Amino acid sequence: MSQKMPTTGGPIESNCSRCEGVTNHIVVAMVGEKVVRVECNCCGTTHAFRAPKQPKATTPRKAAAPRKTAAKKAAKDEVAWQQEVAVLDPGKAVVYAMDAVLGKGQLVSHPTFGLGLVTEIIVPNKAQILFESGRKLLRCALSS
Ligand SMILES: [Zn+2]
Repeated sequence: MSQKMPTTGGPIESNCSRCEGVTNHIVVAMVGEKVVRVECNCCGTTHAFRAPKQPKATTPRKAAAPRKTAAKKAAKDEVAWQQEVAVLDPGKAVVYAMDAVLGKGQLVSHPTFGLGLVTEIIVPNKAQILFESGRKLLRCALSS
C-alpha cells in the first residue's frame, strides 16, 4: 500500500460534518506528519481533520491457494526419506558408482546426494534411489 503522504496545501479526504460525508479537502495545517486542519472543497469550511472511516477493503486472501505441487512432491520425498532412509544404518550403505551392484532396498551413499535407498530397479541398468532431495534415477549394475 503506497499511501501518499499528505502535505500542507495538498488534497486529502476527510469527513466533513457540514457535507455529512467524506469529501475532498485541502490540508490547511499539519503537526508533524499528522493532518490537523483541513478545508472542505465542497462547502469551504475549515475544520479539524477527521479521517474518513475506511472499510479497509478486506482482501480475502484465502482464495488464492499457493500452487506448488512440485515443491510439495519434493517435500513428500523428503518425508519419505526421513522415515525410510534416515532410520537405517548408514554403515550398511554402499558407495554409489556407475558399476555398483544395487538391489531394491539397498542403502546407497552418493557423493553428491548423500544417503539414499534404492526403491526400484529399472532393467537393465538403472536404479531409482530415494535421496533426501528427492528421487533420482541413477545408473547401476544389477545384483542378480
Ligand atoms: Zn464540507
